[in-house]
Amino acid sequence: MKLLSADRILPITQPPAKDSALVIKAGKIAELGSRKNLKKKFPQAEEFHFPLLMPGLVNAHTHLELSGLKRLSAAGGFTSWIIRLVREKRKWDSARYARAAQKEIKNQLRLGITSLGDVLSDPVMLEVHHQSPLFSTAFYELIEIREQGRKLKMELMETHLAEFNFALGRTQLGLSPHTPYTVSRSLYRQAVAFAKKNRLSLCTHLAESGDEVELIKSGSGPIATRLYSRELLMDIKFQPTSSSPAEYLADLIDDNMTLIHCVEVSDSDLDIISRARAVVHCPRSNLHLTGKLAPIPKMLDAGIPVGLGTDSPASAGDANLWNEMKKVLELRKDYPGRELKPYEILQMATEGGATAIFRETELGSIEKGKLANLIALDLRKPHAGLDRLSVQIIRSSPDAIQAVFLGGELIR
Ligand SMILES: [Zn+2]
Repeated sequence: MKLLSADRILPITQPPAKDSALVIKAGKIAELGSRKNLKKKFPQAEEFHFPLLMPGLVNAHTHLELSGLKRLSAAGGFTSWIIRLVREKRKWDSARYARAAQKEIKNQLRLGITSLGDVLSDPVMLEVHHQSPLFSTAFYELIEIREQGRKLKMELMETHLAEFNFALGRTQLGLSPHTPYTVSRSLYRQAVAFAKKNRLSLCTHLAESGDEVELIKSGSGPIATRLYSRELLMDIKFQPTSSSPAEYLADLIDDNMTLIHCVEVSDSDLDIISRARAVVHCPRSNLHLTGKLAPIPKMLDAGIPVGLGTDSPASAGDANLWNEMKKVLELRKDYPGRELKPYEILQMATEGGATAIFRETELGSIEKGKLANLIALDLRKPHAGLDRLSVQIIRSSPDAIQAVFLGGELIR
């Protein structure tokens, strides 16, 4: 049994508490209270003392298998970047994906990132997650826009997941139909039904770029001409829908689906998006590929849970969620709607992310019964106000990380 005490505990779901402590039993937070009371109640517990304790971070959207990639140029626009990624991925094999991912998992832990929302396209990543110590959700990616390939895609997915009996140790499983321009409506429908039947969660990329909007609305643009015809040599006629990407998927969006990006969304699209489980904001990726920021304050004000994700290094440059938070902090006055509060950034990186990866009952805050995934920070003179304290935490980390606890174990 361990007793972790701190000058200040930042539970995220509660105001920060001074001179408090928590007791860890069987990897979980068994008690939370004043240091004095808990020391009296558990005199035999081994005590660790820190200046500040906060929950481990949740990187709510990443592609771990792409960890070895460098950032790819977005010159020529979003579709040009996609084409560069497709070409780069052709050079990689499963062993290389796995090696890069295993190395990145160690790095994530060092950074105090104790959970991921990871999208995987190579089944070797199921084994990587099976062995991973992180408490993640791994979404098996489905890509197939052609009707004739749908059945095979679903069968292959089922075979791969069945090899692991639909269970990956600490990692939970989900499905990720990729995007509205790489997945047919019928495959989306089938994936949603399969997820429901097998109690799997879902995530999908939505409304990431103007190129996607153009294709869904009018069936034309660079995705149709350059990606489908010239790069993939596929004879696809995408039927114009006169809809926005959110409207196009509206009947399939519910509490079992997390939406990634949602940059190109109107105020009326927000009504549709509010039916989703959550949105994941990946600002560095969005800025690199389209130069735009999603209307995150409007989503938060509408009560939509928002997580923060790095996406892959191919667009963001790295998988360091602290860098993602620093970017949001730097641009907090530039968001559509209103300024983002620094404390909201910390909430997105913890509580919001936990909801987005469907694990909010176990992760994302310091509460009795949740997993003891914790970061200790060496902040000697913490500010009293929540927003000033959040600025201090984001600016000084990851350098200020003194210790990381994962499932109650001190791992750094
Ligand atoms: Zn992504």
